[in-house]
Amino acid sequence: MPTPELAVIGGGQLARMMQQSAIGLGVRIRLLAEGPDVSAAQVVPDHVVGDHTDLDALRTAVGDAPVVTFDHEHVPPEHLRALEAEGHACRPGPHALLYAQDKAAMRERLGALGVPCPRNATISSRDDLEAFGYPAVVKTTRGGYDGKGVWVVRSAADADEAFAADRPLLAEELVDFRRELSALVARSPSGEVRSYPVVESRQVGGVCAEVIAPAPELDADLATAAKALAERIATELDVTGILAVELFETADGRLLVNELAMRPHNTGHWSIDGAETSQFENHLRGVLDLPLGCTHARASWSVMVNVLGGDVEDLVAQRAVVLAAEPDVKVHLYGKAVKAGRKVGHVTAYGSDLDDVLARARHAASLFTVG
Ligand code: ADP
Repeated sequence: MPTPELAVIGGGQLARMMQQSAIGLGVRIRLLAEGPDVSAAQVVPDHVVGDHTDLDALRTAVGDAPVVTFDHEHVPPEHLRALEAEGHACRPGPHALLYAQDKAAMRERLGALGVPCPRNATISSRDDLEAFGYPAVVKTTRGGYDGKGVWVVRSAADADEAFAADRPLLAEELVDFRRELSALVARSPSGEVRSYPVVESRQVGGVCAEVIAPAPELDADLATAAKALAERIATELDVTGILAVELFETADGRLLVNELAMRPHNTGHWSIDGAETSQFENHLRGVLDLPLGCTHARASWSVMVNVLGGDVEDLVAQRAVVLAAEPDVKVHLYGKAVKAGRKVGHVTAYGSDLDDVLARARHAASLFTVG
């Protein structure tokens, strides 16, 4: 195989959708995949099977690639520093990625920058939690995703599970939010930054269910503030590629940062069909230090609904039913086996009437879920 231009660590759906943009740009990707048939390994011919915590596997996958990027944030920082010492540019680099890997480090750094966050404290005992006060949200500082490792705690008894494993924990105030927003920016090592429209993300059981772009009836000043905040965080933390800043809009109209993701993000999937340049293309452009593309929406409204594993076992067979019912909804299947609640695809609808766009996207997703 010829020398790859970019190594991508992790073979999930994000890497799969990066490949979709890489094809157009002519970027040769080499992938480190968890298995021979994982989502992205199905579409990236040049892949190596191995574990992202194994430095030798990382080295084999990276080979001569000058730039390395990621499908997830779980590569140990010491491995990233080793790859950098061997001449590969990790984008984002370990100095930035730390703040997406460790929620306590993220809170401390954002606090130092004066970025508004929920009141928080690291806790190591039940006494610490008592002192913090209830109600609280207790989170593992590392390794949580899709609401796993997050507990709403209204009394000492609710914290049993959080304290069961001996892990570092963070306590946060339980924010009374009106809704959750997400501000996505793309940034290149040269310092170019572009913001996507601020979106509303709706979660069910800690998992993103649907995203509306732009966030309906968002105050224009708040939208501007959210974009400025995300751009500032990207610049201060020296993030390259996509940064997603998950936000709470509080009942009294303030913005608080929930968490950061430094890779294409579920709240940006609408951009594949709904924006001038998708988040995946801008991630590639960013990490390769190419000029970034326009982030404007193509339509008044885009709605992305996740397809979570449900009753329908054969999504490919069901595709014809979905397309017959909703021919103008864009379907994205991830090539993953259906398991209950697992993200196995998404659909996006767009147009000028929000109610119509929402209804079409939800209908298509429901046909993939309940049949
Ligand atoms: P994960 O890393 O699993 O995505 P998050 O920190 O984003 O974890 O939390 C998952 C969900 O839990 C959030 O989307 C939000 O709905 C809720 N949540 C998290 N922190 C708070 C908080 N401080 N107050 C209220 N709800 C919260």
